[in-house]
Amino acid sequence: MLILKTAAECSAFILTYRNKNPTHSIGFAPTMGALHEGHLSLLRTAQSTCALVVASIFVNPTQFNDPTDLEKYPRPIAHDIALLNTVNCDVLFLPEVSDIYPNGTAWQNPFLFGSLVTVMEGAHRPGHFDGMAQVVKRLLDIVEPDFLYMGQKDFQQQTIVKTMLAQMNSTCALVRCPILRESDGLAMSSRNVRLAPNDRALAPRIYAAMCLAKAQKATHSPRETRQNVLDFLTKTPKFGIDYVEIVDVTTLLPIENWSDSAEAVICATLRLGGVRLLDNEILC
Ligand code: AMP
Repeated sequence: MLILKTAAECSAFILTYRNKNPTHSIGFAPTMGALHEGHLSLLRTAQSTCALVVASIFVNPTQFNDPTDLEKYPRPIAHDIALLNTVNCDVLFLPEVSDIYPNGTAWQNPFLFGSLVTVMEGAHRPGHFDGMAQVVKRLLDIVEPDFLYMGQKDFQQQTIVKTMLAQMNSTCALVRCPILRESDGLAMSSRNVRLAPNDRALAPRIYAAMCLAKAQKATHSPRETRQNVLDFLTKTPKFGIDYVEIVDVTTLLPIENWSDSAEAVICATLRLGGVRLLDNEILC
């Protein structure tokens, strides 16, 4: 695997590759590292379509609204590189903050995201999605992929990136990859290692709640389903529930009737022992 550490090196490599292989497609999966099978699944999916697969590892400071979270974010880089080698990733882009933001981190967001960035995660993490869009835009300008691979795990992020690509008139296609889970259903996340053993045992209940919603869809309205999921989650007093919402996948706004939406998703986030757990399930 080729490791490129600066934007200039990465852009130059991509340009040369394109010139030599004009018909080949490039797939890209941006990550913040502390890789797990969920991340690797994005790369495997990319390999099934693309001739060249690029991963990036960059812990983006502008999307952290909690400095402690940024500081504590795991950075096991040697292990990450070993994992990327096991899936035959072609290129790792591994830049420093000063290389991604040579003129500082201030940014005037040119995109019109409307309520996409203020609902759900946006309401709990002000500025998070601006920072996320800032880094994804910068990475796309450097890597210029044909396909961008992102996990359904971060559902809201994905809808916002899709909107951003449309507003950029980008030819890059976003590929939504399914959530990889531990055997007990907990969605894999780099933050799971921070769960204390007792909390780790409780954590799969968030997935059980997503399954409950799926089972109830045939017999309950969105409002009833959401309430039943909330009732289920509040039975575990250690859960601090940030939100549970059943929304349209494109507008991210709550729906009143299942027929209001071609594709609806239940999104939930809760806090457990200082760790935020996100999960969602498409309710087609
Ligand atoms: P992160 O490193 O957390 O920024 O995640 C990088 C990419 O991996 C994002 O597109 C995530 O949605 C995706 N991802 C994270 N966890 C999972 C998972 N459990 N299954 C599938 N994709 C995931």
